Parts: sequence; C-alpha cells; structure tokens
Amino acid sequence: MPEPTLMLGDVEITRVVEWAGDFSTVGAIIPGADAETWRANEDWLAPRFWNPADDAYRCHVQTWVLRSEGRTILVDTGVGNDRDRPQVPAFAHLHTDFLDRLRAAGVEPEDVDIVVNTHIHYDHVGWNTRRQDGEWVPTFPRATYLIPRADNLYFDPATARRSRPPRDENERARWEGGRLVFEDSVAPVHRAGRVVLWEDSHRIDGNLLLEAAPGHTPGSSVLTLRSGTDRAVFVGDLLHSPVQLLNPAWNSRFDDDLELAARTRERYLSRAADLGELVIPAHWPGPGAAEVRRAGGAFAVRAWAPFGGQASGGPQGG
Ligand SMILES: [Zn+2]
Repeated sequence: MPEPTLMLGDVEITRVVEWAGDFSTVGAIIPGADAETWRANEDWLAPRFWNPADDAYRCHVQTWVLRSEGRTILVDTGVGNDRDRPQVPAFAHLHTDFLDRLRAAGVEPEDVDIVVNTHIHYDHVGWNTRRQDGEWVPTFPRATYLIPRADNLYFDPATARRSRPPRDENERARWEGGRLVFEDSVAPVHRAGRVVLWEDSHRIDGNLLLEAAPGHTPGSSVLTLRSGTDRAVFVGDLLHSPVQLLNPAWNSRFDDDLELAARTRERYLSRAADLGELVIPAHWPGPGAAEVRRAGGAFAVRAWAPFGGQASGGPQGG
C-alpha cells in the first residue's frame, strides 16, 4: 500500500521509506531524556517512537519526495545499497528495494530534478549513488545535488578539519567511517559535475527555500516550504524523536556541536510554533511529522501529520 500523499499549497509531499525498525535504545540516542520522562509520556510515545519492552528507538530511514513547480525534488537519500559501513554494521551492505518503492511513488531515477542532502551523514546521502560495474555513479543522472558547503568542507577528507577530538570510541569510529561515506556517496556526484554547494540560504523555487541550521553537523540545513497559506519545514536531524519537544536542549548523540544544536533546535521549533509550520523530521516513523505549539517553556504536538495512517494523542500541557 503506497503511503498517502499530502498537498501543502501547490506542493505534493510523499514519504518513501527505505528502512523501518528498532535501532539501539532511546537512552543511547537521546541521552538527556531519562527513563522517567519516557514512562510519563508512554501514552503518546509508545509504541510508535519507542518500544517500552526493550527500550528500543523506533526509526525510519526515509526520503521525502516533493513535486513543486513541475519539478521532482528528493529530500535526503537514505543509506543506499552495498555500502561498507564498519562504523554502523546494522546499515552495512543493505539490499533494499528503495528504487522500486520510489517507482511505486511514480518516480523514475531519470525524473529527479533536484536532490537535497540536509547534511552529509551516511543515512542522508546513500542513494545519491549506486554501484554500476564496480563504480559508484549518480543514481539520479539528471539531478542537481544541493549540498551544504560547510558539510562538504567538514567531511571531504581533502579538507576535513576537526575542531575537537572525538568524545568517545563510538564517535571516533563514526568519524573514520565518514571518509567512506564521502568517497562512495558524495565524491562521485562531484566528479559527475552534478553538485551545487550552497551556504546561508538557497532558493529552489517559489515554494522552497534551503536555510542553514548548524549544530547537528556544521552544514546541517532545513528546507522551508511556503505555498499559499500552507507552511512546513523539513528539519532533517534537528529532531530524532518527538520527546525532544519536551526539552529542546535534549540532543541526540549524533549531534556534533551540542550547544549549537540545542540552540538551533529551539530556534526552528519556536518558528514552527509561531508560524504554524508542519515539522517534518528525517527519522520519525508513524505519522512522520507534526504541527507543534508552545507548552510552558517547551513544545507539544498540536496535530500529527497523516503519514503512516492514524495517529492520535500528544503531550498534554499548557
Ligand atoms: Zn539521520
């Protein structure tokens, strides 16, 4: 069953899921949110975002397909097939039917006009490329790939300069794995001449604007949608779980600059609450997205999006 599509103004939004499952534990992914918080909010966080039985973090890796002003735009490209990923064995050498799922959503690789990588992490750039006769080639041969310049500088092994040592062995391994990600998923689209690097902001069309949202990575970005009176913001990995609405200072363990990531999260959630933007993160399963409102000093769900069928409930509060 294909996912429902959502029209916001003149823009059609479709979710194409590459991978869905339980990954690690919520305590490991969002270290700031303690077990008591999860229990206290079980009625709306479980079972869609959290499995209370084993504490697993419930996760999607997915691509948002947008049709805007006659063009087809992909927001993030998942993990990809056939990758060496020693830093994250659960996602090494996947063989998913992602391209068939994309076709089921009406998108042939040749149809894609623009690929947006919100940032350069392995689970956002993977299907940038595919393996053909032992070579990595762009999966979307006609597309322009929009990549934040700050991330390109940070992750390109030729220019990478880390501003601090790794926090732990996990982070060291992730950083070393990042070289492979750049080489198989980013460098080939550069060589094919398909990349446009951007900084600060980049207008895609009358409906869509890319904006810098640093912290998770130096070049992390959001894609803002305005069409008619409808508004949305694709926030990438600014939010890994809706539990972070309860305290925007709760980072994910994948955030690079913790202080900046928290400030950026607070800033975009505030804007979304004030302007009524639908917040569409990269990894939420279930309804996939939510409108948010202010609640005390933090935020709460005002309404869930309709992706992935019925969803109800949300954190209570003033
Ligand atoms: Zn991610």
